[in-house]
Amino acid sequence: MRASGPGEGSGLLVVVSGPSGVGKGTVVDAAMARRTQSARRIRRSISVTTRRPRSGEEEGVHYFFRTAGQFASMARRGELLEHAEYLGHRYGTPRLWVDRQLAEGYDVVLEIEVKGAMQVRKRRPDAVLIYMVPPSWQALRRRLAGRRSEPKEVQEERLKVAREERVFLDRYDYVIVNDRVSRAASTLLAILTAERARVSRRDIKRLIEWEKNG
Ligand code: 5GP
Repeated sequence: MRASGPGEGSGLLVVVSGPSGVGKGTVVDAAMARRTQSARRIRRSISVTTRRPRSGEEEGVHYFFRTAGQFASMARRGELLEHAEYLGHRYGTPRLWVDRQLAEGYDVVLEIEVKGAMQVRKRRPDAVLIYMVPPSWQALRRRLAGRRSEPKEVQEERLKVAREERVFLDRYDYVIVNDRVSRAASTLLAILTAERARVSRRDIKRLIEWEKNG
């Protein structure tokens, strides 16, 4: 077993980043749907944010919507595994919930931006960092425009952030091109399977026990 990492029975902590509009949520949904029958189910972390809900977004389903003051006290009390500002709003991952799910053996996915991802990398070196990219820049533009949930200026700002975030790509472990949701979901699940097979995540003693018996 890894000295610093979680035990073999615990789940994988998985970060999925990528430009706004790339389809992180859709791909994670598809991967989760394929694992509903499995003992290794995937859970998605629900973040805390100070931004206002978009139409159709629900408290406790998409986000926990909090005031700036409430967010600041959570951060101060160390209740967030990571937190960052994105276009004037704060976003963070509740630590306790994530740790409980991991301990129960669930793989936990955090869909977070790059600054938060870098904090996770530091604090949890065993986390798996995945960056999702669109097949092309034009495709991303089209997807953001199709979302229609935000005014044009906000879409432009999000594209600008996406351009800036790209330089962080080499700090990630894996990249997934989201050209087709089903294919991207298969790649995500393949990454999780491979990560679980890593020697560094396994209890080596137990794996080589047959030597003693044979
Ligand atoms: P949106 O406003 O579109 O829901 O999210 C904006 C950005 O914040 C996205 O890149 C999203 O992945 C990221 N985000 C959502 N939750 C968190 C979080 O808990 N922490 C961090 N660092 N980023 C988050």
